[in-house]
Formats: sequence, structure tokens, C-alpha cells
Amino acid sequence: MNITVESGEGQINNKIIVIGAGISGLTTAYLLNKLGYDITVIEKKKEPGGSIETVVEKGFLFDKGPNSALETHPLIGQIIEELDLNEQLVYASKEANKRYILKNNQLHALPLSPPAFFKTKLFSPAAKLRLLAEPFFGRSKDGYYQSISDFVTRRLGREFLDYAINPFVAGVYAGNPEELSVKSAFPKLYELEEKYGGLIIGTIRSIKERKKRAEKSKQSAKMLSFRDGMQILPNAIAKHLGNKVKFQCDVTSIKKNNGGFQINYMREGEPQVIDCDKIISTVPAFAASKLFAHFDEGLTKHLNEIYYPPVLVLYLAYKKSAVGQPLDGFGFLIPSKEKKSFLGAIWSSIIFPNRIINGETAEDKTVFTLFVGGARNPEIGSIDKEILIGKVRKEFEQIMKISDEPVFQTYKYWSKAIPQYNIGYIEHDRYFDEFEKKNPGIFLSGNYRGGISVGDCIKSSEALCQKLINNSQFIINNLGAK
Ligand SMILES: Cc1cc2nc3c(=O)[nH]c(=O)nc-3n(C[C@H](O)[C@H](O)[C@H](O)COP(=O)(O)OP(=O)(O)OC[C@H]3O[C@@H](n4cnc5c(N)ncnc54)[C@H](O)[C@@H]3O)c2cc1C
Repeated sequence: MNITVESGEGQINNKIIVIGAGISGLTTAYLLNKLGYDITVIEKKKEPGGSIETVVEKGFLFDKGPNSALETHPLIGQIIEELDLNEQLVYASKEANKRYILKNNQLHALPLSPPAFFKTKLFSPAAKLRLLAEPFFGRSKDGYYQSISDFVTRRLGREFLDYAINPFVAGVYAGNPEELSVKSAFPKLYELEEKYGGLIIGTIRSIKERKKRAEKSKQSAKMLSFRDGMQILPNAIAKHLGNKVKFQCDVTSIKKNNGGFQINYMREGEPQVIDCDKIISTVPAFAASKLFAHFDEGLTKHLNEIYYPPVLVLYLAYKKSAVGQPLDGFGFLIPSKEKKSFLGAIWSSIIFPNRIINGETAEDKTVFTLFVGGARNPEIGSIDKEILIGKVRKEFEQIMKISDEPVFQTYKYWSKAIPQYNIGYIEHDRYFDEFEKKNPGIFLSGNYRGGISVGDCIKSSEALCQKLINNSQFIINNLGAK
């Protein structure tokens, strides 16, 4: 853990409540607990994980939220080690390095080397030449108010936007490249231009600097999951914290109380109250807006303006013999120009071969996870799910040359899936910082701040702990410890 605590500070007798037992809340609680703080986690659902949810149905392992995490930060490996999860840890297979993009109903492998780039039919010769001209384009002054679409079109050309970045944005954010702010949603990409003047030169130079910080880029970081699915990680953190995590407690409101806070929540239909000195909220922005409604109208407005599009995650299992497309990759993403009713599919049992637990019949099955909706197709919210799934399946089976019905199918519908760091997001984030300064003891955290990936949430939790410790030191120095 990279946190600096001045001696004895961990013993501060402050009561800290963390709201939400997703990966952000649990990691924060885990780190603070380790530093000696008195923490309690309050969670609405009956199990830990939030968006990280794994089920096994009829022998098929279905990750309803994230299917994997990238080991971008040393803290991820450290937590896995400390919680004795090494036996559970699985890395993505070698085949998963190969990723496909759909163009004209054909799957094209994304080129991973310069010779493959010159050979690929994914981009026209003109688009390839345009890409090579990237170092000659200057910086833009638009900063946070530039979309990823404008940024990429300017630097790399329209075709690269349509057939590389557009599907990539759908894969990461289920987002719309015309709306996402490049500086807020892809800060590292933006930094390459801002700091080094261009993407190609910046990539080369930043590799050296990342090595110094012992961090890995999202491209080079290893992709991991767990033998029994992603929920193993939040489950293990919650188990480690024991009765410090309280489930089925739905926080309804928060009030200021004698220099601290009063948290009101419902447990089994009964209203409950708990007092504390500090609050770390890790619930989604739309949920936080209700909890802090008494504090500040502006905060409610900013939290509510963060857009969470719906996503339907469809899980399909087939006999291997029914699939005509060679299964030698991570899966494929679909550019919006291709006009399909889903965003892409990952070949789950190729990436992590333990996704089918069905004993003797496992060998002849293969499973896929498809993503539908997002900011590209938010209308899925009002479409009959069976009709939608029928349409998606038909398109998917054509692309994958599948000749038989699935042997198993299930889905999860997330009505508000992933926060979008759209243009204008920076105003929200600045307001959240101001709110925290005006209301010492309250910390707003979760995946709508500091990045949406599991790795980003873990990294942001460490940064939050450091902020809380600095803030405690400030209060001790200026007001005296309680
Ligand atoms: C479909 C999908 C696929 C994804 N795929 C990937 C992927 O492959 N890789 C990756 O890195 N990331 C992926 N992500 C993103 C990542 O999973 C999330 O950003 C991350 O898990 C969010 O964690 P969190 O703790 O910030 O929030 P959450 O997981 O949303 O946790 C918030 C918690 O707060 C609780 N809560 C809410 N309201 C209250 C209340 N009033 N009282 C008490 N508790 C409350 C909720 O029940 C929840 O448990 C995916 C997300 C989705 C939805």
C-alpha cells in the first residue's frame, strides 16, 4: 500500500461509515481498516460486489457485470496476495490477445504489429497514410470540452474513429464517442497530446515514465479474473472485514449532527440510525443525489446530470460443433456504422476456459457474453426483452456462422449501467471537490469519479484514503482531534 500515515494517526478514534459494498467501498474500507481506522460498511443488497455479480446456473458461470479486470496498478495484485486468492486467480489465455472488429459482416483481426497494420483490410490505404501523418498535427485548446470523436478525427482521421475508436468506446463505456469528453473519459490518451505533442511520440516516451511508477498501461496490463468468477474478489474483501460489513441496510438520508453525521437506513423494514464522524459515499451518482438532498441543491443537480445508459448483458452457450467461426480470440466489437442491434460479444470460454462447470459435457460447449444497448441504443429500456434478444441472437448467429439453438441462455438487464464522463463532466467533478471542501468529513467516491474500470476503482480508493488521512491531519492541526 502506497499510503503515508504519520505515526499514531491510524489510532484516531473516528467512526467512518462507508456506504456501498461495491469494489470502491470495499477496497476503501479494506485499506482504512488496515491502517487502524474504525470503519463500518453499509450495503443495500444482501451480498457484496455491486456491479460485480457472478452466478452459476445449470453449470454455466455467468459474470453479469465485469468479466475481467486489468492489473494496471500494483495494489490489485497486493490485495489478491494478502487475501490468499492466488489459487483462485486466472489470467486470460494467449488467444485473448486477438480481437476482432466487424466490417461488412466479416470479422477482421485488429492489427497488433506494423506489418499486420499494413496488411489489414480493416482500414483503407488512405486511412493508413492518414494515421502515419499523426505526429504532424498540433495540439487543440479545447481541453475538457473536446469529444473523443473530435480528438481522434483530428489526430488520426475519420476511418480510424469509425473502425477502431467507436467500437472501442462501446466496449469500455458502452458510450457514445460524440458525447464522451476525451480529457475526462480518456485522460491518459489526452495527456499524450498535451504533454508530448502527439500520440505516437507520447506512447513511446510514457512507457519509460510508467515503468518508474511501477504502473502498467491498459494495453500492456495483464487481464485477470478468478476461477469462480469476478465476485470472488469483493466476497473475499467482505469476508476479511467480517461483521464490519452490514448487508440489507438501505441508507435513506444523511444529516449533520453535533459536528458529525447521522445516517438513517432501513433494515428489514425497520428504520435505523447510526452516528459517525466521516462518511465515504461509494453509491452511484443517482443514488448519492437522494442521500445528500438535504445538503445542497447544486449537488443534487450535478449528481443527477451524470448519465448512466442501460445495458443488457446476454449470455449464450452453444455446442462447439454448431459454431462455424474459428474461436481464436477475445471476441469482437461492432462499429455503429455497421448498424447492428448489439455492441459486441466476448468469447468468454476462450478467454477464461473455466466458464463451464458442467462436468463431463463441458468440453463440447462454448459460451459467449454479448452487450446490448449503451449510449448508442438507450431505447432498449422500453423494448420487450424477449423480442430484443431474439433480434440480437439472429444477428450474432449469422456473424458467428452458428447452425443450432443455444443449449443455455440467460441475461441481466442493468437499467443504469455505467456512468458516462461526457462533455461537461468536469463541471460536475469540480462541484464535488468544492462540496467536499465545504463539508469536511464527507467524501464522494465510486466509479463516477476517477475512472470506471475495476482497476480504476481500486486505484481511486487508495487515493481517497490518502485524501482522508491528509484531511484528518488538517482537522487535527487546525481544530484539534476529537
Ligand atoms: C455490465 C457491466 C460490465 C462491466 N465490465 C467491466 C469489465 O469488463 N472490466 C472492468 O474493469 N469494469 C467493468 N465494468 C465497470 C465496473 O464493474 C464498475 O465500474 C465497478 O464495479 C463499480 O464499482 P463501485 O463500487 O464504484 O460501484 P457499484 O459496484 O455500483 O457499488 C455501489 C454499491 O452501493 C450500493 N448502494 C446503492 N445505494 C445504496 C444505499 N442507498 N444504501 C446502501 N447501499 C447502496 C449498491 O447496492 C452497490 O453495492 C462493467 C460494469 C457493468 C455494469
